[in-house]
Amino acid sequence: MFLTISTTGTPERPATDLGFLLHKHPGRTQAFSTSHGTAHVFYPEATAERCTAALLLEVDPVALVRRGQGKGRGGAPDAALAQYVNDRPYAASSLLAVALSGVFRSALKGQCTARPELPEERRPLRVEIPVLPARGGAALVHRLFDPLGWDLVDVEPVPLDEQFPEWGDSRYVRLVLEGELRLADALRQLYVLLPVLDDAKHYWIAPDEVDKLLRAGDGWLASHPEHGLISSRYLARHKRLTQDALERLELVRLAEADGSEVEEIDNAVDDEAAERSVPLAVQRREAILAALRGAGAARVLDLGCGQGQLVQALLKEVSFTEIVGMDVSVRALNMAAKRLRLERMGERQSSRVTLLQGSLAYTDKRLAGYDAAVLSEVIEHLDLERLPALEYAVFGSARPRTVLVTTPNVEYNVRWETLPAGQVRHGDHRFEWTRAEFRAWADGVASRYGYGVEFVAVGDDDPEVGPPTQMAVFTQADTDTDSDSTTTDITTTETPKEGEAA
Ligand code: SAH
Repeated sequence: MFLTISTTGTPERPATDLGFLLHKHPGRTQAFSTSHGTAHVFYPEATAERCTAALLLEVDPVALVRRGQGKGRGGAPDAALAQYVNDRPYAASSLLAVALSGVFRSALKGQCTARPELPEERRPLRVEIPVLPARGGAALVHRLFDPLGWDLVDVEPVPLDEQFPEWGDSRYVRLVLEGELRLADALRQLYVLLPVLDDAKHYWIAPDEVDKLLRAGDGWLASHPEHGLISSRYLARHKRLTQDALERLELVRLAEADGSEVEEIDNAVDDEAAERSVPLAVQRREAILAALRGAGAARVLDLGCGQGQLVQALLKEVSFTEIVGMDVSVRALNMAAKRLRLERMGERQSSRVTLLQGSLAYTDKRLAGYDAAVLSEVIEHLDLERLPALEYAVFGSARPRTVLVTTPNVEYNVRWETLPAGQVRHGDHRFEWTRAEFRAWADGVASRYGYGVEFVAVGDDDPEVGPPTQMAVFTQADTDTDSDSTTTDITTTETPKEGEAA
């Protein structure tokens, strides 16, 4: 199994930068042992003008069989022999994709510590795979690669036997791609599409395959016309996982369409994290409920309500007479509706609760006139430059008397055993703040919008690094006066669009 990646260059932008991008020195031949054999990386040519990196995977067919993974689908009568005599060692396939992700891990992620600017650059690239199994033939290869920004997608069927053209074509093609792309994008496409074309995944499909697919598909898969086929084949036609992938891609498209840049790709991780950290999630909910009771709130907004756990807890207390859960994610809202059994709820209960779809990046008249708003673990899901818009939507436009905001305290991350140093808790977190950063932000918001603010530690309050969750309790400075009249004299950094202000 063999794949080459070439680029051209100039004295200023030498082609040998490919070595930096791939984290593999052009002057050396390197070998990596993978679970199925040995992967070799070498450079047949490496000059400033032209540089080619080759990845050769030598598969050990016996190892493959011993691992119980080389059997392919179905049980042919000659399966015993087929285990040893099969095309796995020779054809570029899902194994090559696995080797690619192992050997070029940083390149796939678009990381280059030595030259951080490099991965962002598009370069003239040429990818060649001499023997690519393609179930679906050349036509499918075109359908898969044509929409992905290549100038040239050249697919040549490989004849079964060159001596006997009348035997026709094999199920292999030779693929050449040429175009100006970022290397990481090209690698991520290959990582997904090689096994899709192979259509005989050799390893068991685990639930985290959906995460891998969504990660590798970031930026191209959601809008790909064949995203259905790609997801289904990548996930070895596993129905539930495919359904899950398609729902999450739908959310990505939704967010792209409304420009809110909300990525839902890590939802499953979120669920898992939520499960693992049940005690903290529960403590957070208790802290929120206590603050709402303390504020005497009856009509409450849960903004970014997710799957509705807090809405459910609020419903259990009669003092909360009206509860609105809002989220940008339809999927989350559907799950919330299921959790609450909205359909089967009696009229009295159901009149207390409303679920709304909407984005906090925009002002929304439906949110005006409530006693309190909760933003539990939401602000860190927005890009920093979008926060002022959220601030205006909540504190300027909706303007409830009380606003509760919780967010992770990044200082506490060193106390999470499973969290590698320097990482955020969740893939979709755009930022995580120290206590000082959160205070500075909250103080700024409070003074700009006429609120007072107090801080509450949630969870184990570590003497050194503080609590895992930090909560700000904002109270309108003039709560005793008619709150409607206060909206006129607020200074904001964002000008509301015509007709949007409440
Ligand atoms: N409040 C819940 C969920 C937190 S996860 C809890 O504490 O468990 C963050 C939620 O914010 C997600 O459900 C996500 O869909 C939502 N979200 C992210 N950006 C948003 C936006 N711009 N508008 C509304 N909701 C948003």
